[in-house]
Amino acid sequence: GKKIIGITGGIGSGKSTVSKFIEELGFPVYDSDFWAKELVNVDENLKSRIIELLGEESYDENGKYNRKFVAEKVFDHQELLLQLNQIIHPAVKINFENWVNAQTAEFVFKETALLFELKLNESCYQSILVTADENIRIKRVMDRDGRTYREVKEIIDKQMPETDKVKLADFVIQNNTDLESLKEFTHQVIDDLQRMDL
Ligand code: ATP
Repeated sequence: GKKIIGITGGIGSGKSTVSKFIEELGFPVYDSDFWAKELVNVDENLKSRIIELLGEESYDENGKYNRKFVAEKVFDHQELLLQLNQIIHPAVKINFENWVNAQTAEFVFKETALLFELKLNESCYQSILVTADENIRIKRVMDRDGRTYREVKEIIDKQMPETDKVKLADFVIQNNTDLESLKEFTHQVIDDLQRMDL
């Protein structure tokens, strides 16, 4: 059967970069974050359920998802945010299953920030955690997104601690140095995965 490998990591850890390296090797990679953002615009069932939960203003006059409105609506409303996620996550799950079924490769990868939080690792053959020291991650996100130290730190503090993720991961890629090393570590993990399969 097909083997699903989960790729995860906190903000700024480098999981998208690892996914890119894996795609360059020719493996299919599903980007959960991309699809979550896409599905709220194209999945009609999802759209009507979001409107039901948060109101008509969740979409603009052209039917496009109003991310700002939704973010403000759920900000400081834990229960609403939870309900919103309970609508979006199953839609992504179904989309992923359809995507997996359409793949012909033996190994397929799934990049998701919430692999362990949503226990998605339980339906994976193996999991890869990308991690880096907190200050390095903060610096990288500040450079990438133009956010402040405090903003990034606040996001990190809301995420599952790296120490907990390390315990759950099958493979851990330390991304504290340069991109060349990250690519090398990624290739090493892929080699190990293929060897496990022999
Ligand atoms: P997010 O969850 O915020 O999307 P991510 O885990 O997907 O983050 P990336 O986007 O891959 O992380 O990396 C964060 C930033 O750091 C990017 O701008 C990326 O190019 C850069 N980066 C990642 N790894 C390295 C590295 N080893 N050396 C230098 N820059 C790096």
